[in-house]
Amino acid sequence: MDLDTSIKEISRVGPSFLRKLGKMGIKTVENLLRHFPYRYEDFSDIIPIAKVKLNETCCVLGKILEIKSSRTWKRRMILTQAIVQDNSSAIKVVWFNQPYLIKTLKQGDVVCLAGKVSFGDKGIFLSNPAYEKISTFRNIEISSLTHTGRLVPVYPETEGLSSRWLRYILKPLLLEFKNKIPEILPEKIIKAENFLPIKQAIWQVHFPDSVAQAEKARARFSFEELFLIELSVLKERLRLNKEKAPAIPLNVELTKEFVSFLPFKLTDAQKKCTWQILKDLEKPRPMSRLLEGDVGSGKTVVGVIAALNVVKAGFQTAFMAPTEILAKQHFQEVIKLLKPFKVKIAFLTGKEDKIVAQKLENEILEISRQKLLDKARKGEIDILIGTHALIQDKVKFKNLALCIIDEQHRFGVEQRAKLSTSRAGEEKLIPHLLSMTATPIPRTLALTVYGDLDLSILDEMPKGRKKIITKVIPPEDRNKAYDFIKEQVKLGNQVFVICPRIEAGNNQAEKDKKGEKDILGWAEAKAVKEEYEKLRKEIFPELKVGMLHGRMKTKEKEKIMKDFKNKKIDILVSTSVVEVGIDIQGATVMMIEGAERFGLAQLYQFRGRVGRANVQSYCFLFTDSPARKTRQRLEAIVKTENGFELAQKDLEIRGPGSLSGVKQWGIPDLAMENLKNLPLVEKTRQAAQELLAEDPDLKKYSPLKERLKKFKKRIHLE
Ligand code: ADP
Ligand code: MG
Repeated sequence: MDLDTSIKEISRVGPSFLRKLGKMGIKTVENLLRHFPYRYEDFSDIIPIAKVKLNETCCVLGKILEIKSSRTWKRRMILTQAIVQDNSSAIKVVWFNQPYLIKTLKQGDVVCLAGKVSFGDKGIFLSNPAYEKISTFRNIEISSLTHTGRLVPVYPETEGLSSRWLRYILKPLLLEFKNKIPEILPEKIIKAENFLPIKQAIWQVHFPDSVAQAEKARARFSFEELFLIELSVLKERLRLNKEKAPAIPLNVELTKEFVSFLPFKLTDAQKKCTWQILKDLEKPRPMSRLLEGDVGSGKTVVGVIAALNVVKAGFQTAFMAPTEILAKQHFQEVIKLLKPFKVKIAFLTGKEDKIVAQKLENEILEISRQKLLDKARKGEIDILIGTHALIQDKVKFKNLALCIIDEQHRFGVEQRAKLSTSRAGEEKLIPHLLSMTATPIPRTLALTVYGDLDLSILDEMPKGRKKIITKVIPPEDRNKAYDFIKEQVKLGNQVFVICPRIEAGNNQAEKDKKGEKDILGWAEAKAVKEEYEKLRKEIFPELKVGMLHGRMKTKEKEKIMKDFKNKKIDILVSTSVVEVGIDIQGATVMMIEGAERFGLAQLYQFRGRVGRANVQSYCFLFTDSPARKTRQRLEAIVKTENGFELAQKDLEIRGPGSLSGVKQWGIPDLAMENLKNLPLVEKTRQAAQELLAEDPDLKKYSPLKERLKKFKKRIHLE
């Protein structure tokens, strides 16, 4: 067996465990060895039985005087009871529902037990302790202990995969492999940081001799994992820099002309970002740029200027949005903005047979999918706007030079390569990438998982926008808020009501699917359908209330959005599907039910749905949760205007897992935990930069190179 051996080969790992491990991304021996505990149970103090104290957790060592098992009168429950004695005293031990124990532990066995001392009908007893058999009473080496009598590792578990089992599997593996794991960190880093060498670290992280040793080992692996992320993204950057892209000359006249047609003046931030992008496009290397700006900061027009330059240089642009509604909105917006420029713009989605395309003369024309695909391939479409359908195999471009991706953050290199145009006998050209997002990305993430992208930040809102008044509304003021809404509607304004879920009820499968653990809170979460009925019938019977959620058909959704846009609906009750990008000029109130269920960055996005038309707008947050953390978070959004600050707070309060998309990255737990640790992130980034400057191909660091290859396979930063 070596490190790459499949865990299938480990005799103690059966098919069901194999599946469970697989679910956690553990496929090889090495994966398993690098599955680190997230905490340790301190059972290191073995005390005489005479000294145990009620309600305290303790660890004792003794001989089993007797052991028996029985069923309780409540039936079903199997009790295993034992008396364990040492030199000082004896104690009763009770295990619940562990029927196999009676086969494992026998009278006369010496056992080490760790658990809580409880009080029952017949006096004190050790309740459900962790146990292990010991061969001797005397001179026990802690390295021989696994589940008790030491710092005991506790692992992130999935159902049916206990820490005990992992310890049982891991310990012999560690003994076998600890000297075979190659040191991947460069010598000078280990020296400079005073890290434990891999041999010791891998043992100490699982079975530490002391808390200090555990921390030392963890520090090393924290560094290592972030270092690998940095190396991946920085290497990716180097690699892309060697690729060729179409160089798009900056067309000053054209750009000036476009700006002069705009009904508004560009903000300084828009000018700055546009300039950065156009300068990038001039280079014959693929741009990878993230345009970040709050909702309403005007990202679209920046993207359109880039697209216009590309088109007039004779190339094509693909513009992709995450939802159909949004794609269609962009389609209409782009048509409007480019009206004077005779650009051929088309729209493509995955679902419909009919595709809408636009002709030169500005009338919109429906053509078949096949025809549209033909046109794209022949270069008869300049800007193709759509959903994910754009990256299907069937879509081919004649000379694509720019991909604009809205609200996706990232676009895999693979996807990009797929879109690149390769014609026989010609050099392969990779299109430039402009990714646009309103999701504020905390600095630590910008430096790690987004570290391969250049950032352009729209840190300024167009003039005249009013600050949105944000309030956390206590339950007793709910009716006041409803009255306020009625007045707003009377003034001709519109209202969003956001609910955390679609349907009431308690469907287990659905909960599992959503990965929702907080079952209690989940059951209480407001549901769109219920709320819609309530508002429509009881609260606002005289107003037009509409409903929108992700399970509706695309056509229905579009109709609702269109009605809302055209003011045929006053109040729209919706799930988070309205989260990204939708532009409803008439909306002035954003009411969020169960606000505690959303991340700060998400709340921030919701809030951005209103306040677009220079009219005073409001955001009302409702919560029934009395938890302090919840209030803290909600107060943060009330106070904070800056999205980056909010995102960093989100990261600190809720952890990286709360950020959308992060779970799919497959980043190891320790690195995940450290994604909020700015000093460490900066340090690892610098170390990675220095190493790559010295040896871009890591020729001198082959173990690191090998490890990086595997690491990249496991993470997908899409
Ligand atoms: P987002 O950054 O959220 O994508 P949009 O690009 O949708 O923002 O722009 C929001 C609205 O602001 C649009 O109606 C757009 O026409 C308008 N807009 C963009 N830039 C400016 C500006 N500099 N001044 C005034 N309005 C602007
Ligand atoms: Mg937008």
